[in-house]
Parts: sequence; C-alpha cells; structure tokens
Amino acid sequence: MTKYKLEYIWLDGYTPVPNLRGKTQIKEYGSFPTLEQLPLWGFDGSSTQQAEGRSSDCVLKPVRVFPDSQRTNGVLVMCEVMMPDGVTPHPSNKRATILDDEGAWFGFEQEYFFYKNGRPLGFPESGYPAPQGPYYTGVGYSKVGDVARQIVEEHLDACLASGINHEGINAEVAKGQWEFQIFGKGSKRAADEMWMARYLLERLAEKYGVDIEWHCKPLGDTDWNGSGMHCNFSTKFMREVGGKAYFEALMGAFETNLEDHISVYGPDNHMRLTGKHETAPWNKFSYGVADRGASIRVPHSFIKNDYKGYLEDRRPNSQGDPYQIASQVLKTIATVPTDAKDAAAA
Ligand code: ADP
Ligand code: MN
Ligand code: MN
Ligand code: MN
Repeated sequence: MTKYKLEYIWLDGYTPVPNLRGKTQIKEYGSFPTLEQLPLWGFDGSSTQQAEGRSSDCVLKPVRVFPDSQRTNGVLVMCEVMMPDGVTPHPSNKRATILDDEGAWFGFEQEYFFYKNGRPLGFPESGYPAPQGPYYTGVGYSKVGDVARQIVEEHLDACLASGINHEGINAEVAKGQWEFQIFGKGSKRAADEMWMARYLLERLAEKYGVDIEWHCKPLGDTDWNGSGMHCNFSTKFMREVGGKAYFEALMGAFETNLEDHISVYGPDNHMRLTGKHETAPWNKFSYGVADRGASIRVPHSFIKNDYKGYLEDRRPNSQGDPYQIASQVLKTIATVPTDAKDAAAA
C-alpha cells in the first residue's frame, strides 16, 4: 500500500469569477487511485461564498483525476460542489448542467499576464517599458525577462506529466503576457483540463513570488493588449459534412444568440472588445476569413475544404469559464438543423 496525497480541487462561489480552491487528504491505495476509488469529501462553504451561517457543509464529488508530477505520490482531483445531500449540484456548480458532446472538439487559447508588485512582470516601478511590438513570440532578456520562460516551461512539463492536453505556448503582445493552448474532445474534458492547467500555473508561480492576472484588460484603456481565451470549436458534423449553407445558418444563429454568448464569455469584455487592436466590438457580431478583427475567424483551410473544419470564436476572454463557454457554443449549434436543405431555408 502507498500513501497518496489527494488534492481535491474545486471552484468557489465568488462572482463574477470563481477562484480555484484545494485541500489535501492522505489515503492508502495499492496503486494510483481510479475515480471510482475516490470518496466524497466536505468543506466549509461559508468560507468560500457557497453557504451561509450554521449548516455550511458542502460536498466535493470527484469527477476527474490526474497524476500530480510536482508532488511525490500526488493526485489532482477535479471536483464538483454538491449540496449537503451529496447528489444535488450546488448553484455555483456549472459543470453539472452543461451540454456535452464527445464529438465536439474544443481548443482554448488561454492568455494571461504574470504580475509582480502590482504590475506586469518586467514593467518598471513607474511608467511603462518600450511599447508593444517586439514581445509577441519574442526571445531575449529585454523581451521576456529572466523568470517568465522558466515558469512557462515548468508549467508545460507539469501539464504534460498530468496527461493534460497542452498544445503549445507563446509569448504574447504585451510585456509580461503569455498564452498556452489546451485541446479536448468534449466540453467537460476540454474545460476540466483548462481549469486544471490554470490551477497548476497559479500554484507553480507561487514559488517565484509571481501572480497570474487573468483579467481581460488589466492595463485598462491603454495601448497595451488585453487577454482573451479564443475558443476554437468543431462538431463531427462540421468536420465531416459542413457546407456553405450550414455554415451561413450557423453564423446566423451565433448572431441571434449574441447576448447569450457575451454573458458567459467573461466579465468586463467591453473593456477588451472595443473594435481596436484586432478585436471586434462586443455588441456587434461579425465573421470573416482569416479575419482577426472579426467575432469569429474562419480559417482559410475551412473554406478550401468546402466549409468543413473548425471555427475560432475570438470573443471569450481570459477570465471566462470554459465550461459555460463550450456549453453556450453547443447550445447555439443545437439550434441549427444539420440537414443542408433545412439549413439553407432557415
Ligand atoms: P491562433 O493563435 O493562430 O489563433 P493557436 O495555434 O493558438 O491559433 O490555437 C489554435 C487552436 O485550435 C488550438 O488550441 C487547437 O487545438 C485548436 N484546433 C485545431 N483544430 C481543431 C478542431 N478541428 N476543432 C477544435 N479545435 C481545433
Ligand atoms: Mn493563439
Ligand atoms: Mn493569442
Ligand atoms: Mn486565436
């Protein structure tokens, strides 16, 4: 038997953006535990804005399990928060009720800033560094400093060792800003891995005395870029059948449901989606081929391939909840008939 360190991780009840929380319990197993072997656990919901007053116990229900390479015999346990009865999802538990579809693939591009002493890593104590331009995909101390890349590389290794589908990294447009990409089949799978990747990044950055700033426009109304979390998506139908009529009907549905999308695409998005700096205004839907100033970018490959493949919704921001983003994309897709003739008529 081996003593495993089980880190139960969940999303708290703070709004508009939940925080990640975690606590450890030690349990003995003959080998690395499976999901079925992990017990329910509880926590004090009154400390996480998930309960009031006297009967404040909430229940943690394990839903995904990953090895934790940063810890000897470590286990990362993604949990849903349940009511004290253990079966009713807590109102803050969005995962329990989202749409899912294994045939729907999601690729999230998570942008974020490293922050230290209340400013982006590499910013001088007062004023600004040289304007953005050389930082995006840059190399060299004057572009990326001396610790950012180390954190980013360690994070990549930690994700891969945990079996998280990390797909890549790049330094971003603003100084101190970076991106990583997570791909997953199914909305729950992709979003679980994104939340776990966020957890690993925040935890890793602790030892460097660095915070992760997830806000979509931390530098406000300046010429410094904001942070998005572009959502690339495709369904089985989009990849295998597609077609121009279906595509146009789908874009019509995205336009109709604009408000529903924006409401789950992350807070303060009007600060970021202004129409400047390769963004589309938040309140006007648009799409375009290879257009990085559109709400939805249509890759060249999509058109060349007879309107088959994936699309990129560029509106979700860095603080968006990937569970709700993926679910809203699926909700809108579900309103469009997949029969090409019906779609053309719709
Ligand atoms: P860019 O920065 O040019 O917008 P990235 O390379 O950062 O693009 O991200 C592209 C994303 O698209 C990746 O996360 C990738 O996993 C995702 N992706 C690629 N093919 C598909 C597909 N068929 N369905 C869904 N997502 C996809
Ligand atoms: Mn990208
Ligand atoms: Mn980017
Ligand atoms: Mn993108």
